[in-house]
Amino acid sequence: MNDWPIRIAPDPTAERRARARSDPSFAAEALRLADLSAGGTMAYPIEVASASEVEGRATSAPCPICWGAPRLVDHVVAWRSRQPVRVVSTRCKHCGLERNTYFSIRGITAS
Ligand SMILES: [Zn+2]
Repeated sequence: MNDWPIRIAPDPTAERRARARSDPSFAAEALRLADLSAGGTMAYPIEVASASEVEGRATSAPCPICWGAPRLVDHVVAWRSRQPVRVVSTRCKHCGLERNTYFSIRGITAS
């Protein structure tokens, strides 16, 4: 029998979730940084080659607060300065955070 002391490596996702629950400013800062990243606002969409990439990209990016997997809620086309912008709404399967991610399709412009 092995009597060595066993140390279990900390789980970074569990640590992040515990911190998000106990420190509201941590969650607010994580959201603020996500909104500053590509796709975080309509003014700064993620550029993709085709519409078929949009939903997969939106649901493969982890939740900015808890790193949980988001689930697709909606996908619509909005307009900004006469340019179409894909707006994908997701909800985190773990913490329930709802957020939008914005995409533009390369080479698509309004005539
Ligand atoms: Zn989450």
